[in-house]
Amino acid sequence: MFIDLDGFKEVNDAYGHAAGDRVLTTIADRLRTLLREGDLVGRVGGDEFVIVSTQISDAAAVAAVADRMVGAVAQPIDIGHASIDQTVSIGVATAETSVTAEALLARADFAMYEAKQAGRNRWAVYDDNTRQRVESNRQLIADLRSGLGTGQFEIWLQPELRLADDALVGFEALARWHHPTRGLVPAAEFIEAAESSGLIVELGNELVRTAFGQMALIVDAIGRGPRLRINLSRRQLLSDSILDLISDELDRSALAPEDLCCEITETALIDDPDGLVQRLERLRDLGVELAIDDFGTGYSSLTHLHVFPVGVLKIDRSFVAGLGTDHEATMIVRSVLGLAKSLDLEVVAEGVETEAQRQMLLDLGCDSAQGYLFAKPMPLAEALTYISSGVVQAS
Ligand SMILES: [Mg+2]
Repeated sequence: MFIDLDGFKEVNDAYGHAAGDRVLTTIADRLRTLLREGDLVGRVGGDEFVIVSTQISDAAAVAAVADRMVGAVAQPIDIGHASIDQTVSIGVATAETSVTAEALLARADFAMYEAKQAGRNRWAVYDDNTRQRVESNRQLIADLRSGLGTGQFEIWLQPELRLADDALVGFEALARWHHPTRGLVPAAEFIEAAESSGLIVELGNELVRTAFGQMALIVDAIGRGPRLRINLSRRQLLSDSILDLISDELDRSALAPEDLCCEITETALIDDPDGLVQRLERLRDLGVELAIDDFGTGYSSLTHLHVFPVGVLKIDRSFVAGLGTDHEATMIVRSVLGLAKSLDLEVVAEGVETEAQRQMLLDLGCDSAQGYLFAKPMPLAEALTYISSGVVQAS
């Protein structure tokens, strides 16, 4: 097992090296208590440990041990004047007789990297494809890094229509990557890599600037009206630059603060919502509207809903897809709309593809929607054509 502390540098930076050492010895102690007779644990780098176990014979037992280790380390660590939540990522590799110690360690290291990629505070087991996945992920991150600032990242706009009269009420800015060799890469494929590598802050900021630039051209064409919806990641929202960036862009753009809506996914709000609430409030203080994106997928933030200063819920496409055909999905959409109404929130439905879904959402009191039934995400030039083709403007 290759064990690497998650973000340990931040502990040293924030609390000093004495506190860092305290964290390391505490973790070493906790790992030691989970070892069996004959196991070996060693610290092999600044914040890396390796455990060699000859006592485990099957995968289920490995999983149980790795699980316990992740859980044991994640308990708060008392450093005297503060308590630190330190987590680890663990890579597990099992030995066949033909594998050298060095190769085994390399495998565990690859698996550890994959655990980091998957979100840290977890373990992963090496398999035949681990190395390839890790290497292609590293390549993706290298390509992302070198693509920043080169114009490879584009914003496509997806129209949002008011259900009552099909008036255009907004555009959601969606990221696309024009990769030099792979062509157009959808956001789902690279946003996660951008998140895990920390590049999301720089990339996200670049996308925000691009979106504002495009919206300026739309305002030139039709005047103010459609709202710009941008997606902010948790990490981006917590970054130091985001508030200045948005207020600068608002200052120089033709958009009023209320023409901007920042979307953050429900799942991003679940963990440690406290720090985020403060950021959201400051955005809200700028006059910007806030939306919870992919609503319904995160469950637990329902309990926090009243503490988030949001004005809009976006119902996740997976529920819209089941509207009228899947009883549970229909009930969820109905409840979200009821909840939104009682909290005086606006509701936007995502992924509307059929007339039946549109009608049902309208009947249930949903305000607006986006989806292939109306329009797909499109590059700016097409959005300008779309607008000039006689789409109704919201009044
Ligand atoms: Mg969104």
